[in-house]
Amino acid sequence: MKYDVVIIGGSAAGLITAKTAKLAHPDKSVLIVRKEEISLVPCGIPYIFSTLNSIDDNKMGIDPIKKLGVDFLIEEVEKVDTESKTVFTSKTEIKYDKLVFATGSTPFVPPIPGVDLDGVFIIPKDYDYLKKIMVPISEADNIVVIGAGFIGVEMSDELRHQGKNVTLVEAMDRVLPLAFDEDISEIVNEQLVSNGLNIKTGKKVKSIAGKNGKVEGVELEDGTTLKADAVILSIGYKPATKLAADAGLFMGRYNAIWTDEYQRTSTPDIFAAGDCAEHKDFFTRKSTKLMLASTATFDARVTGMNLFGIKLIKQNKGNISIFSSAINGLAVGAAGITEATAKSEGFEIKIGKFTAIDRHPGNIPDKSSQTVKLIFSGKGGILLGAQVATGKSAGELINVLGMAIQQGMTAIDIVTIQFGTHPLLTAAPTMYPAIVAAESVARDICCG
Ligand SMILES: Cc1cc2nc3c(=O)[nH]c(=O)nc-3n(C[C@H](O)[C@H](O)[C@H](O)COP(=O)(O)OP(=O)(O)OC[C@H]3O[C@@H](n4cnc5c(N)ncnc54)[C@H](O)[C@@H]3O)c2cc1C
Repeated sequence: MKYDVVIIGGSAAGLITAKTAKLAHPDKSVLIVRKEEISLVPCGIPYIFSTLNSIDDNKMGIDPIKKLGVDFLIEEVEKVDTESKTVFTSKTEIKYDKLVFATGSTPFVPPIPGVDLDGVFIIPKDYDYLKKIMVPISEADNIVVIGAGFIGVEMSDELRHQGKNVTLVEAMDRVLPLAFDEDISEIVNEQLVSNGLNIKTGKKVKSIAGKNGKVEGVELEDGTTLKADAVILSIGYKPATKLAADAGLFMGRYNAIWTDEYQRTSTPDIFAAGDCAEHKDFFTRKSTKLMLASTATFDARVTGMNLFGIKLIKQNKGNISIFSSAINGLAVGAAGITEATAKSEGFEIKIGKFTAIDRHPGNIPDKSSQTVKLIFSGKGGILLGAQVATGKSAGELINVLGMAIQQGMTAIDIVTIQFGTHPLLTAAPTMYPAIVAAESVARDICCG
């Protein structure tokens, strides 16, 4: 079997690389090799536990990709020989001209005693595993979720909506500690507590206790034991890169595949995109552990377009982490670096922050409070980061602020943005939080 382009992995990065490659180079043959017959929309996984009717409502359709002429092979790749340019599964050998690693990531399992007990679960992007664990999770009354990043928070919120007694444990001092500063985390915390969630921040897990091989509780380092019929580990994900490392590709930090700005690896004709590839911070160019579907599809578009020569020139270098989530009706978003990270990285900064109602007049139905926090560089007032907590518009607002970061906009640029408002859709023009938040910093720059 021989293909012009072989892509290992068929989730966010693999599918969009294939689609982009086929549209940009229609004469080239493209094959996706992936392990799973059915794949899930990864970001939808927390919602299979309550908001969606069933796990099957979260399947990722591949018919549009197949219709473009992309072929699929459902097998696990076991070896890549870069000399003969061949990919091996247990049954098939495939020759390639260009190869793309889009092998993604798998959950990190911490070395805590008791993680292998019955009733301790991870959240992989795996249809069969998740379908199986939904049963014991739905039968559990007391659930402990370990790790208050986005996945832990979303899982906890969903399980509360199922009426479970849920405790969320986080070693750091706040929920969503990497995305938000303390003040915005506090808004999220209040929202979670109002949904009946028990939150234990600043608490480290010592071990998971069990009886007859089945989980019974979670022991914290402070001596407390939390009762648990089920435990969910959401400590993070690690790049799935053994195959690439065995093939001799150069690895970057955190065991992710090193690439240049065009997703080219250290081996000619081999690319890497998505969670398995190394990402660099937009401002510091340090390696980050950033793993997002939006970043994976961004990598994939760059890869697919540039497989046969650099056609799509990237103006930006490095990645801006842009997250959003909805927690018990409160939408939150973060882009760029937090105030805490900016300080620890040695940036001189200025903060702008404003809260108003996201509709106008303020007593209109369906309104909610909108807080926008902007982190600017101290001297030039360049936007480094943004955090938003509001009604549903947070998802789009944070994307716009992410674009402002990417474009190097300053507080003055933001204050002089021309924007539209409407009573049923946005905050009032007189107190549009994203603009007013920038005003004090712009004033400092202009008027000393
Ligand atoms: C619960 C959850 C919620 C999330 N929510 C969000 C969100 O709201 N927003 C957001 O931006 N991101 C979110 N993410 C992150 C996002 O899911 C990942 O960044 C994204 O899935 C990365 O896509 P990928 O294609 O790089 O890798 P993956 O999705 O991990 O896919 C890897 C693919 O490679 C295949 N593969 C691996 N090894 C082999 C092999 N040897 N042979 C054949 N096939 C192989 C796998 O089978 C799979 O098809 C979430 C993740 C999780 C787990």
